[in-house]
Amino acid sequence: MFTLSQFPLPYASDALAPYISAETLSYHHGKHVATYINNLNELITGTAYETMPLTKIVRTSLNNDQKIFNNAAQVYNHDFFFNCLRPANKQMEVPEKLAAAFGGKDELRNQFRTAALSVFGSGWAWIVYDGGSYKIITTANADTPIAHGMTPIFTIDVWEHAYYLDYQNRRAEFVDAVWDNLANWDFVAENMKL
Ligand code: MN
Repeated sequence: MFTLSQFPLPYASDALAPYISAETLSYHHGKHVATYINNLNELITGTAYETMPLTKIVRTSLNNDQKIFNNAAQVYNHDFFFNCLRPANKQMEVPEKLAAAFGGKDELRNQFRTAALSVFGSGWAWIVYDGGSYKIITTANADTPIAHGMTPIFTIDVWEHAYYLDYQNRRAEFVDAVWDNLANWDFVAENMKL
């Protein structure tokens, strides 16, 4: 059984304001993620999944148990996403090695932004390490790079629930605000130590 306390926010709920409000975080973490955890617990009770670590549930349920996959992947994706963010008052720089892989930090920002805005409906934009290089990809709904043998480096959740209270339909403003003010490049650098 999983609990929300196993996936804590790594900062105070008001630490991302004004770019992501405490109200948004209270719903996003305290309600949406909590619901994915509750659903997952109900679905795996009494099954072979019950004793697996979360990442093994994600990889095993892909193509086999859609409801279990959706909820397990969303728990994983959100925990990774919240760790990709840092308090708004902390300054950080994009790792040079990552920027260089995309032709510079402006090009990296542009490519990621374009990908994030291209997601139709609900999904995620990612920087991943795959097949020996860094790539920008998107996934739909709950889908996650770890189910496809890729290593996540950074993500932004572009489901509407991630930004609607603060930005309504203005996804581009949300993505820009997160990239410019909240991206935890120290966490990204750790993820690049493969
Ligand atoms: Mn979300």
